[in-house]
Amino acid sequence: MQKFFSLLGLSLLFATVAGAQITDPVATEVWEPEPRVVTPGQNSSAPSDAIVLFDGTNFNEWTHADGSAVKWDLKDGAMTVVKQTGIIQTRQTFTDCQLHIEFRTPSVVVGESQGRGNSGIFLQGLYELQVLDNYNNRTYSNGQCGSIYKQSIPLVNACRPPGEWQAYDVIYTAPRFNADGIKVAPGRITVLQNGILVQNNTEIKGTTEYIGMPKNAPHGAGPLVLQDHGNPVSYRNIWIRPL
Ligand code: MG
Repeated sequence: MQKFFSLLGLSLLFATVAGAQITDPVATEVWEPEPRVVTPGQNSSAPSDAIVLFDGTNFNEWTHADGSAVKWDLKDGAMTVVKQTGIIQTRQTFTDCQLHIEFRTPSVVVGESQGRGNSGIFLQGLYELQVLDNYNNRTYSNGQCGSIYKQSIPLVNACRPPGEWQAYDVIYTAPRFNADGIKVAPGRITVLQNGILVQNNTEIKGTTEYIGMPKNAPHGAGPLVLQDHGNPVSYRNIWIRPL
């Protein structure tokens, strides 16, 4: 009988606690911290807290790999790859971030497979989100536009026709390394191409390699890098929000 009453008491206690949680809406309200205010941009322009990396007017935030002034074309609010001038990279370095970047593959279609409208966006200078004209242009699936090059096939082909502006919206989490230089958490990337999900929290296996397997040497923050693959691909409206 005593056991019965103690069980009854426990049941009543839990019922009371559960009841308090269910019946009092204030009990589950959390007021701190309050999210800070960010003013959204209009038509994909930078929100108020973003670092504007390219607004179409100058290369202030960019250099070539050797630190020299950017030799790519700057015209009509866009930058365009000039063949064999080399990659460009941001002066600032980043880790976790939200990135918006718009790109346009050439309206004059030249080449096929990897030779058509090839460029790329390297997070931390190491992990390539492929830029390619895959509008009616077949190539290996893990190398097409929206792929994490040679690592992850995009969920769909969301390419607009050549000559049209396209957008990538990226959420990127950098890999973590411990004090011994061992990778303890992989990098992860989510990508929307023209508003369509093409990479969904994809695990990055390591550095982008043209030949061979990804590598995982420890590293810290790195620049955003845009690839010169010999094709006159254009970029505009680039902004980033460190996370
Ligand atoms: Mg590329």
